[in-house]
Amino acid sequence: MVIFMNKYEVLKKYFGYDGFREGQEILIDAILNGQDVLGIMPTGAGKSICYQVPALLLPGITLVVSPLISLMKDQVQALNQAGIHAAYINSSLTENQIAKALQFASAGRYKIIYVAPERLETHMFLEFAGSVQISMLTVDEAHCISQWGQDFRPSYLKIVQFICNLKHRPVLSAFTATATENVKEDIVCVLGLQKPRILVTGFDRKNLYFAVETPRRKDAFVMEYIKAHTGESGIIYCATRKNVDTLYEKLRNERVGAARYHAGLNSEERKVSQEDFIYDKCPVMIATNAFGMGIDKSNVRYVIHYNMPQSLENYYQEAGRAGRDGGQAECILLYSAQDVVINRFLLDSKEQNQEFTQEELKAIRERDEERLRTMSYYCMSKNCLREYVLRYFGEYGSGSCGNCGNCKSEFEVTDVTEAAKKIIFCVREVRGRYGINVVAGTLSGSDRAKLQEYGVSSYASYGSLNEMTETGIKQIIHQMLLDGILEVTKDKYALLRSSVLSEEVTEGNRKVMLREKRRSPFEETKSHAKHTGSMSSSRKRASDILNSRGLELFEHLRKLRTEIAKEESVPPYIIFSDKTLTDMCVKVPFNRGEMLCVNGVGENKFERYGARFLLAIDEFTGGEKEKYSFGD
Ligand code: ADP
Ligand code: ZN
Repeated sequence: MVIFMNKYEVLKKYFGYDGFREGQEILIDAILNGQDVLGIMPTGAGKSICYQVPALLLPGITLVVSPLISLMKDQVQALNQAGIHAAYINSSLTENQIAKALQFASAGRYKIIYVAPERLETHMFLEFAGSVQISMLTVDEAHCISQWGQDFRPSYLKIVQFICNLKHRPVLSAFTATATENVKEDIVCVLGLQKPRILVTGFDRKNLYFAVETPRRKDAFVMEYIKAHTGESGIIYCATRKNVDTLYEKLRNERVGAARYHAGLNSEERKVSQEDFIYDKCPVMIATNAFGMGIDKSNVRYVIHYNMPQSLENYYQEAGRAGRDGGQAECILLYSAQDVVINRFLLDSKEQNQEFTQEELKAIRERDEERLRTMSYYCMSKNCLREYVLRYFGEYGSGSCGNCGNCKSEFEVTDVTEAAKKIIFCVREVRGRYGINVVAGTLSGSDRAKLQEYGVSSYASYGSLNEMTETGIKQIIHQMLLDGILEVTKDKYALLRSSVLSEEVTEGNRKVMLREKRRSPFEETKSHAKHTGSMSSSRKRASDILNSRGLELFEHLRKLRTEIAKEESVPPYIIFSDKTLTDMCVKVPFNRGEMLCVNGVGENKFERYGARFLLAIDEFTGGEKEKYSFGD
């Protein structure tokens, strides 16, 4: 047990961190004061620390209810590595193993016990819970208790009964990354949180670089990207199983160490792929969105979306699996107009829940269409991508983050107000009968059979922008949609209408500016690569703060980490994160004191691995620190 330690000492000793991140301390203090808490934080923000630190400071046991077996195992491994006694109770254990674990737990061996919700009701567990002191009950992925949420789990309702059955009500702490109001209210209400301290931290993930690229050949882009990031771990999400398989074959043929994951593989195949990825045997994972829930791998350096996802919610969650260790990581979406077609097809073929009425189904369909549209606008936006996402989630950024594909690109800005006026005129003239394709065709004066069928040549607008291509006109329409000057109907036909703002344009009080990318950072990198013979992204990577000699040391230490991970049968990132290794290369520690100053090296980890890493650093540098300054 941790006696006479404060929260800072616990953070340093066990986790090796020097300070708390935004929001962590507020929740920890509340818990230690006996107040219930609800923490709403994005993936990677550091929710675990919020209950693990107080768990060590409270007198009794902390129970953590968690929905995913793989996640529990990962968390317990990480805690054990940090020198904290923890265990998990779920269906992956035999009854005998569970009995044994509970016996140890009753004897006070564990401070933290992870438990699957369906275990709470079992006789064995109830008996155990009645005989020990439970100081806190933590509900991880708390949105699972809400029927409004995407992943409602009926077994989560068992938590409520369980708490009622306890002799003493423990402090309750609940955590989730889902921020919608309905879900929040449900969690407080269903769990019965008492005067909870609710904390919602910002959804911005500063270490993630966001970009949208429109390469002519996506597979060539992916290949080149992977080669330029050899040795780094990354996920490539595809919309369909077929896409996954095709890309997988291609990469395999090029000898890229790739694993794949989708619902068409059997559970054994999926398990093997997942482990190959987690244990860094295969650095690249190609998968459908079936992959990722419960994956805690912290050193994912990039997430590429081969196809546009169906919503910004999905995108932010999937992309957010990059850079959980806080190190620099990249989220790149490869967009093509075809993606919208694929997604609409997926929406059309979505299985319909028979319990809904026609009206409800219509509302759901409209919501899905709306989400898809928000996602496509993200892909077409020429302004700060981070700002776009944050606004969607109800926050305001600084307007320009300086660390996204758009903020880093050079744009050519053209005044297209005159063309915009003609577009507005046309949209009004056709009285909301048509979508973007017919409107653009009409304005350009196209003689496509379909348009003739509609009789569009009788409109005054017909051909009024015939000096422009249809693509050019569509670009301006997209800009006007983004600016809110035009709108589309919510159904799948997406018929164009003008908004109130359109009057400002027609009356000459508002300009429409078109921003076209002159050069994306990727193209710049490529031309740079031709000159220098090495292609690396223009954005900062975890290891970018190191010079070439520093990178060699990083590789050296990474090999050592892989070796130790094999010996201990745990994923490498559980030994030390990429960020910790990078910090070692910057600080070049030669003794215990210096090593303990490295971010992520706590006392227990030092006892276990410190000597081997010190030795490796000593060997590499020949013991002469002054000559080695590895940071740039
Ligand atoms: P979440 O559950 O919110 O997705 P995690 O709890 O997995 O996030 O934390 C993400 C990463 O951030 C982990 O590698 C964790 O060790 C690290 N981390 C958490 N808190 C801190 C901190 N105060 N200082 C440095 N790193 C931290
Ligand atoms: Zn930006």
